[in-house]
Amino acid sequence: MGRFDEERSEMIGLLRDRLITDEKILRAMGTVERHLFVPEPFTNRSYEDNALPIGKGQTISQPYTVAFMTQALGVRPGDRILEIGTGSGYQASVLSVLGAHVFSIERDLDLLAAARKMFDRLGYRIATKGGDGTVGWNEFAPFNGIIVTAGAPDVPAPLTKQLADGAKLVIPVGDRKSQALLVLTRQGEELIRREIEGFKFVPLIGKMGWQ
Ligand code: SAM
Repeated sequence: MGRFDEERSEMIGLLRDRLITDEKILRAMGTVERHLFVPEPFTNRSYEDNALPIGKGQTISQPYTVAFMTQALGVRPGDRILEIGTGSGYQASVLSVLGAHVFSIERDLDLLAAARKMFDRLGYRIATKGGDGTVGWNEFAPFNGIIVTAGAPDVPAPLTKQLADGAKLVIPVGDRKSQALLVLTRQGEELIRREIEGFKFVPLIGKMGWQ
């Protein structure tokens, strides 16, 4: 038994209670050791359903939010998924364990270096890039899904252009304090839009984000 195994399975129970129904996601989140992505002095609180500080004014997202966004994205093994906002690397690791080919962009190079180190330690093969993710990663487009883990003032146009047909962009959009989660599905030239209220993310800062 690992140090936090019991806490992690309690967290999975809690996600089930909150209507996360995708067993593959519950299994992946039961596998990835969230406490390895949460720095001291917060490590002991890793399996609470809360966002926690990771340094540089940033956070690791709440487990429910990670599960909800991953479920909204509809990931299948072999999908090419772009994540904007690597942060601690936890969300990217969950996507990788689900069998996705993950491409992740982070603007803070110190956070990215720490996440990179953890991916290498755990053997997760995740492609990363330092810089502004609001312009996407054209070189590897189109993607089967794009997930933005910081709150944007609007949907960055380059990201919608990098979606494959049938793919989803999951992105919190609103003001700096609270956002709605938008799920945009590309169908040919059209974008089908679903909106879920009540999320709170750190700001997406960049050319097509906040200044
Ligand atoms: N997905 C992360 C995890 O699993 O820990 C949580 C990310 S945190 C809520 C949001 C991250 O987005 C921060 O690390 C922040 O530096 C990053 N960020 C903000 N604007 C960005 C941009 N334009 N491009 C890339 N990363 C950005």
